[in-house]
Amino acid sequence: MSLCRVRLFNANLQQGFRGRRQFLNFARIFKPAAHESTMLDLFHPFSESPFPAVKARGETVHSLAPCPVCSSTGTKPLRVKFECPDCGWPTHCSEEHWEIDEEHAKFCPRLREVNEDEHDLRSGRRMHEFELPGPQAYEEAISFANWDLFWYTRGFSSMDTERSRRHASKLLTYPLTIGSVLHQNSGLTLNNHRVTPEGSRSLAALRMTLHVAPGAPDTEEAGVAKPQIRIFILGARAESSLPPHVWEQLCMLFPSCHFHLYFIGPQVSLPRLRDDWGSQERASTQSPKEDSATAKAASEQEKPPLYVPNVYEPPTPKPIARLKRTRSSLKLYGVPSYTVPYSPQLTITGIQANYMEVHAQFRDTFDPYTDLFFLFSPGFGFPSPSSCSERDRERCLQIASPTEWGPVIPALLATRCAIFVTGFSPADIERDIRSLDEVPDVADELEWIVTPGENPFRSEKWEVADFDPRVIVKTNWGLWGIRGKGKEVQVDYCRR
Ligand SMILES: [Zn+2]
Ligand SMILES: [Zn+2]
Repeated sequence: MSLCRVRLFNANLQQGFRGRRQFLNFARIFKPAAHESTMLDLFHPFSESPFPAVKARGETVHSLAPCPVCSSTGTKPLRVKFECPDCGWPTHCSEEHWEIDEEHAKFCPRLREVNEDEHDLRSGRRMHEFELPGPQAYEEAISFANWDLFWYTRGFSSMDTERSRRHASKLLTYPLTIGSVLHQNSGLTLNNHRVTPEGSRSLAALRMTLHVAPGAPDTEEAGVAKPQIRIFILGARAESSLPPHVWEQLCMLFPSCHFHLYFIGPQVSLPRLRDDWGSQERASTQSPKEDSATAKAASEQEKPPLYVPNVYEPPTPKPIARLKRTRSSLKLYGVPSYTVPYSPQLTITGIQANYMEVHAQFRDTFDPYTDLFFLFSPGFGFPSPSSCSERDRERCLQIASPTEWGPVIPALLATRCAIFVTGFSPADIERDIRSLDEVPDVADELEWIVTPGENPFRSEKWEVADFDPRVIVKTNWGLWGIRGKGKEVQVDYCRR
């Protein structure tokens, strides 16, 4: 048994009380290798894929994406129909247009990679890259220089192939993007100019709660008297549907810390409805409107679509599993929501609402020593799908839109807590940052804490837009951070 498996095994024994996942891991670890199935041929044109979901995605692209060659000639473009034999994606209206398109060579290798990754995920092979290690021994330092050093120092099974690296990084990018910024071993520092002096003070304040005094063992016992760290993840989508045991990887970077994650946004994933999902509670607290929404959600669950297109914004993720201790928080927040105390170190709350609907309930409780915000690809610089500016009746940007980020960002700046933002490409980051200048309430009130740049803990997997397979990005490609101006956050060492 390799060292890291011994460690995983021990950790699972120690953690056995935490429930089923560890037990499943335990079973997986000892599954004989002979049972592993591998699918040697991972490449299939979408229309010939053995997996209905991949086939359905090909049909979605066919129905949405215009042929790039038709588009360049100024005629009304036909939809893509012809599948490139090298990448398997529907890329052009016809073989003729595929043949004369020299640009496609730029995208083809990435598209081929995505094709094979999608088939690999469904191949039924043992996904060792999704086996996550247990708690870190306190004397073993974790490196946040890059994915490889992180995996090595955290005792993950070795990631032998680029494909494994892509799968694992996609799974872990959300918790690790947060963890790698907050941790005292973060690769973002004053020296490499990724952290500003103001940022250094904000992070120092948070790290007083995240870590223990220098020299003291950073263990669960050391955290008994510590306040909770609250991470508000606004506009949450895919990250709200990650299984809690993946978020637990964030906790394991800070053994003495208690985390409360709040996923807040209209696309937050709520627990799957079941017959025993507090029917009495529901009857007593839900309005007729909610009942019809619940019935609609339930009927949608009965017939899940094979593939949900990622048209202009990522789709709302599927409902998540309902755990034993999951409770509805509808009474507390007045909107569809749940809370689950997942482990002694981790509590998760999901609130399916615009942030401003619940801001008043949190407004007076924020503290820059314990609270922070994360906004994953918020799309500040994209036109609002619902609001027009009064001046020229053009679509306003989401950063200024009253129904999107318009009222939210000034409210967050007023808390003085750190706000971290990611984007999926250099252009996306630039668009979001430029949009800040559109809103005087934001531009004049912010100061930088983390300068914009690449995020070493981005997903290494390419994400392809269904409406144009030439749009290919990486989740959490880059990262930046701001906070509200105002009186200085004094790092008060007496608080430790
Ligand atoms: Zn064409
Ligand atoms: Zn191709």
